[in-house]
Amino acid sequence: MKMDSLYIHIPFCNRICTYCDFNKVLIKNQPVDEYIDALIQELSQIEIRTFKTIFVGGGTPTALTVSQLDRLLVFINKTFIVTHEFSFEANPDELTEEKLNVLNAHGVNRISLGIQTFNNELLKVLGRTHQLDDIYNSINHLNKIGLSNYSIDLMYNLPGESTGDIEDSLKHVEMIRPKHVSWYSLIIEPHTVFYNKIKAGKMKIADDSIEQKKYERVMEGLTALGYPQYEISNFAEEAFESMHNKTYWKNEYYYGAGAGSHGYTPGRRYYNIKPVNHYINTMNETGSVVKEVIEISDKERMEEEMFLGLRMNKGVNKTRFKEKFGSDIESVYGSVINELENKNLIAGNDDYIALTKHGRIVGNEVFSEFLL
Ligand code: SF4
Repeated sequence: MKMDSLYIHIPFCNRICTYCDFNKVLIKNQPVDEYIDALIQELSQIEIRTFKTIFVGGGTPTALTVSQLDRLLVFINKTFIVTHEFSFEANPDELTEEKLNVLNAHGVNRISLGIQTFNNELLKVLGRTHQLDDIYNSINHLNKIGLSNYSIDLMYNLPGESTGDIEDSLKHVEMIRPKHVSWYSLIIEPHTVFYNKIKAGKMKIADDSIEQKKYERVMEGLTALGYPQYEISNFAEEAFESMHNKTYWKNEYYYGAGAGSHGYTPGRRYYNIKPVNHYINTMNETGSVVKEVIEISDKERMEEEMFLGLRMNKGVNKTRFKEKFGSDIESVYGSVINELENKNLIAGNDDYIALTKHGRIVGNEVFSEFLL
C-alpha cells in the first residue's frame, strides 16, 4: 500500500472566525495538554514511520504554547521520518519568532500562513485576530530565519469586498513574493455567523457573476505575477506546489490523526471523533478514536478520481486511471467526456483529461457529471 502522507489536526483557536465550519474550539480553558497526550497516543499506533509529507493543520496549530509545540514536535521527530514536505499552518499574529524557531529547529520546512485578506476592516468582519502589521511581522520573521518555502492563504468574494481589494491583495503578493498562494472563494457554510446573518437578511454576498469575474481576475493577476495555476484555487512558483494537498487531489491514501480528522486507506475512509473532550476520554478509555469507517466501492473511487483529479490543471492521468481500475477512462466516461468537450468544459490529450479555463469557473457543474 502506497501511503505517503499524514495529516495531524490541532483543533484550537484563539478566536472563532465568522465564516468557519472547521472542527475547532476556543482554546481558553481547554484541556490542551491532555489533547496532545491523546494525539501522541493515536500517532504512536500508526505503523508506517516514513512519510513523504506531514501537514499539521487546524484549528490553528500556532495557538499552542511554545512548550506544547516543542513537546508535539519532539514526538513527531522521534517517531516519523519526513522525506519531503513538513508543513505547519500558522496565523500571522501567532507566528512569533520564538514559535518559528521551535518549528524550524524541528524540521518544519513549509509554512501555510492564514492571511485571508490584507484589508484591516475585512479582517475584522471575518473575526480574524490579526491585522496588516501582523502579516508583515510574520513575513519578516520567516525571511529572517530563512524559511522561504511558505504559502499564503487568501479569500475572495468577502462581504463588503470591492474589486479594489483584489487589486490590493495582488500588490501585496507582488511585494511579499511567497512561493505559493492559495486563494479560495468564501463559501457560506451552515452553522456559521455569516450563514445566520445572511439568513436573517443582515448581510449579503455578491452574486455568482461578480464572483466569477473576481475569480477570473485572481487567475489572471497571479499568472501575470509568475504564479502558474496548478489547481482550481492554488498557484505556485515552479517546484513549490503543495505535495501534501496533491495527495488528496490524486486520490491517494493518507492517514489523519486528531479530533475530527479523517484518513483514506484501501477500500475505506475513516472518521475520528470530533469533540475534543470526547476524543480524549475515548482514547483514554478504549485506546481508539475512530468514530466511523465507511467502505468505498470501486464506483465511488472512480467518481472521486475524476472530481478530485479534475481540480488540478493537469487533470486526471489516463494511465493511472487504468492502473487503478483496470479500465480505460473512455470506456467508463466516454459519453460524458464527449459532451463536456463539445461544451468546451474539458479538454483531453493522450495522457490527461483536464478542465478548460471555462470549466474551472463552473467546476462543480462539471464534477457532478462524473457521478455514475
Ligand atoms: S483560525 Fe481558522 S480554524 Fe480557527 S476559527 Fe478561524 S478559520 Fe476557523
